[in-house]
Amino acid sequence: MNLELNEEQAAVRQLARDFVAREITPNVVAWDRAEEVDRSIVRKLGEVGFLGLTIDEAHGGSGGDHLAYCLVTEELGRGDSSVRGIVSVSLGLVAKTVAAWGDEEHKRRWLPDLTSGRAVGCFGLTEPGTGSDAGNLATRAVRDGGDYVINGTKMFITNGTWADVVLLFARTGDAPGHKGVSAFLVPAGTPGLTRRTLHGKLGLRGQATAELALEDVRVPASAMMGPEGKGFSVAMSALAKGRMSVAAGCVGIAQAALDAAVGYAGEREQFGKSIAHHQLVQEMLSDIAVDVDAARLLTWRVADLIDRGQPFATEASKAKLFASEAAVRAANNALQVHGGYGYIDEYPAGKLLRDARVMTLYEGTSQIQKLLIGRALTGVSAF
Ligand code: FAD
Repeated sequence: MNLELNEEQAAVRQLARDFVAREITPNVVAWDRAEEVDRSIVRKLGEVGFLGLTIDEAHGGSGGDHLAYCLVTEELGRGDSSVRGIVSVSLGLVAKTVAAWGDEEHKRRWLPDLTSGRAVGCFGLTEPGTGSDAGNLATRAVRDGGDYVINGTKMFITNGTWADVVLLFARTGDAPGHKGVSAFLVPAGTPGLTRRTLHGKLGLRGQATAELALEDVRVPASAMMGPEGKGFSVAMSALAKGRMSVAAGCVGIAQAALDAAVGYAGEREQFGKSIAHHQLVQEMLSDIAVDVDAARLLTWRVADLIDRGQPFATEASKAKLFASEAAVRAANNALQVHGGYGYIDEYPAGKLLRDARVMTLYEGTSQIQKLLIGRALTGVSAF
């Protein structure tokens, strides 16, 4: 694995840094307080090609490898995790899954819109009664002539209120557990699909997280993506790559925490000198710095494996587990370095901590990542 960025990777990282400085940083506090990112950000993300990374140009993508995708995701996460999440879901969980599993019609219908930012995608797996045990989902799609009729409820859906298309998982057969699940691409405007934005989140406040209710939602049988009964494989393959993207976003949070803490430690004076002189403050800075490096290296390894066509799922679990826990530690340390000022939102540490906190929960909790790693080590499944 070569740790030196090539010209293209370095250029895309710089593009992302400039984009964040211009389009995101000036708005972060206002978006967080308003509980809504300005929707125009989606078109802007599309225009610079960030919503098409790793997707081939024939389908409207902007190409690039998975390390480039990680670099952009890290920079967006450093700027605002709410914006990073839009990309991780619309591109990472939806467009990339359409590219991997969709037929030509699915790709033609959705990829140019998703990669340009004309459309937003969301990923509808979790339900009120099933989160970690996603294979037990209750949403049902019943065949009716040339259509499927879908009923059920999806919970905590990122981009849910904004989305134009839902990559939806529903039970199509009587097979128990994950075996009876199929994947569908459901246009969000389909009659019977209603959405409710969830307010009062601890973090990611700018993001449109929603509950989706499906009441007799009728879609043509051609909306099914991948073979019938293979929906859980579709979901798990999406989430394995998605975990790399979450990990990269966490590296961004930890890096932002480091930047803020080092900057503040150099400016703030107590006991007649900057707090950077105090060894216990240096310890906190050093802990953050090691977390940043370790999380980044684990994440880049996943990108490298994917780009070389090697198995990567367990490494993605390791990266997501470590990076998400590291982001929480790093943001918490940064807040501590800021003292009381870390507790108000004119300084970034508090928001970083609030945003980081969900990373150990979604796309598989830390406990679920440990079980996946344990299964890979022992061959014994705890599920
Ligand atoms: P539960 O599964 O009920 O878990 C509760 C606790 O029990 C956790 O600590 C868990 O680790 C532990 N636990 C459960 N099973 C085991 C076990 N076998 N062994 C040990 N411990 C266990 N979902 C989507 O489908 N699409 C999205 O876009 C999406 N976005 C989200 C955005 C936000 C802001 C949030 C908060 C959630 C989002 N989710 C999304 C849902 C998320 O993936 C779930 O919340 C997560 O999978 C955990 O499920 P749960 O909340 O039902 O917790």
